[in-house]
Amino acid sequence: MRTKKTKSTARFGPRYGSVVKERVRAIESKQRKKQKCPFCKKQTVKRLSKGIWLCRSCKKKFTSQTYYIKS
Ligand SMILES: [Zn+2]
Repeated sequence: MRTKKTKSTARFGPRYGSVVKERVRAIESKQRKKQKCPFCKKQTVKRLSKGIWLCRSCKKKFTSQTYYIKS
């Protein structure tokens, strides 16, 4: 049952407290969005794993910030 607006942090259930979940949610919503490629400037970059990013347009794989790309 989902009674609270927890979005991506709903999997944590009632644990960890709302402040922690608020932070996680902010990070996760950012990392799931497509990021802008620093090489071709298109919004086609996907996060593969921690700090590893792949641009689907120019096929470049690169490292950046763990959860998002520094712009
Ligand atoms: Zn690119």
